[in-house]
Amino acid sequence: MYNKFQEHLKKELAEIEAAGLYKNERIIESPQGAEILVKGKKCLNFCANNYLGLANNPELIKAAKEGMDARGFGMASVRFICGCQDLHKKLEQKIAEFFGTEDTILYAACFDANGGVFEPLLGEEDAIISDSLNHASIIDGVRLCKAKRFRYANADMADLEAKLIEAKDCRFRLIATDGVFSMDGNVCPLDKIYELAEKYDAMVMVDESHSAGVVGKTGRGVTERYNLKGKVEIITGTLGKAFGGGVGGFTTGKKEIIDMLRQRSRPYLFSNSLAPGLVAAGIRMFEMMSETNELQDKLHANTDYFLKRMHEEGFDCKPSESAICAVMIYDAAKSQQYAAKMQEEGIFVTGFYYPVVPKGEARIRVQISAAHEKEHLDKCIAAFVKVRKEIEG
Ligand SMILES: *Cc1c(COP(=O)(O)O)cnc(C)c1O
Repeated sequence: MYNKFQEHLKKELAEIEAAGLYKNERIIESPQGAEILVKGKKCLNFCANNYLGLANNPELIKAAKEGMDARGFGMASVRFICGCQDLHKKLEQKIAEFFGTEDTILYAACFDANGGVFEPLLGEEDAIISDSLNHASIIDGVRLCKAKRFRYANADMADLEAKLIEAKDCRFRLIATDGVFSMDGNVCPLDKIYELAEKYDAMVMVDESHSAGVVGKTGRGVTERYNLKGKVEIITGTLGKAFGGGVGGFTTGKKEIIDMLRQRSRPYLFSNSLAPGLVAAGIRMFEMMSETNELQDKLHANTDYFLKRMHEEGFDCKPSESAICAVMIYDAAKSQQYAAKMQEEGIFVTGFYYPVVPKGEARIRVQISAAHEKEHLDKCIAAFVKVRKEIEG
C-alpha cells in the first residue's frame, strides 16, 4: 500500500521544489537572538518574531528554572482534570491586567486559541466577518464554526461595511481581524472597525500576536494604539513572539466569553496544560512589562531608525506601525537573489513572493527587535546597499 502513496508524495514534493516553494530549515547552533550561529558562522538575525529580544533573557530563564524547581516539569493533564496550578491562574490574571480585560484563558499556542474561539461561541444563525489577510489559525478556527462566513478585503472599511449590511439579519455578528498583518506590517484600523461594529451591532475579535508588546506606546497592542483598551470583546495572542518567544497562547476579554470557552473550547478541554516553567517565565515577563517601558521604547526607536535610513538610501519600504518592515523588490526572482546575497553578507532576512504576497509585490521582510543595537541595524542597511549594487548594477 505504501508504495503507491510514496510515489504520490514524491511527485508532489518534486512539484513543490520545482515551483521554488520547498521550505528548508535553517539550523541554528546558538540561542535565539540578534546574533546567531549558523554552520559555525555568526549571523545577524532579522527574521525572528523576537520583537522585545526576550527569547534569551536571563531573568526569564531564571524564572523558568525556579518555576520548574517549585512546580515541576510537566502537568500531564488537561486544565480541568488536574492540570491547573496557582501559577496558571496567576498568569491568566497578569494577561488580563496587561490588556485591561476581564479574564483570560491559556492555550498551548495561539493557533489553539484561534482554533477554539469561534465554534463554542457562535452557531448557524450567526455571522463571522473576517479580514482576507487573517492568519491561517483564524481561517481554520472559522472553518470549524457553523456560523455564516463573510470575508472583507484587507483593512477595507467600505467592504467591511457592505458585509456587515449583508449579515444584518443574523443573530450575532463577530468581526475578526489580525492586529498587525504579517506581510506588510500594517496595523488594522481598529478605530474604524470598532465604529462600524457599534453602528451595525457587531462584536470584535483581534489577534494581537504580532502587535502585543510592539504596537502602542507601552506595547499593549492595537487596543492601546486606538484608545480602545477593554472595549473589544475578544483578544487572542501568543507567548511565542514578543512575550519571550517560548510557547503558549491565550484568549482574553469579556468574562462570560472566557467562562464559556472554559466549558466548551476543544483545544482547551482536550490538550495538555502549559508546563510550569513556561508559565512561571510568562508571569515574570508580564511583571517586567509593568516595571519598565525600556524594551518597547528601544524597539520603536530601532524601527524608526531602520525605516528612516532605508528611505535615505532610496529603498522602497511599506509604511509600518509595527516591527515588520517590508522592503519592496517587486520581482519574485530578484527577491530570492536579495535574500540569498544578504545571507552571504551574514544577514538573515526572508524574501516573500506570490502566492504568499500578491503578484508583482515580492519583498524582503525585515523584522526589527529590541535586541538589535545600532551597529546591527547599520550592518543590515549597509548589506542592503551592497547587495542592491551587485544585483541592479
Ligand atoms: C504567530 C501567530 C499565531 C500563532 O501563534 P502560536 O502561539 O505560535 O501558535 C496566531 N496568529 C497570528 C496572527 C500569528 O502571527
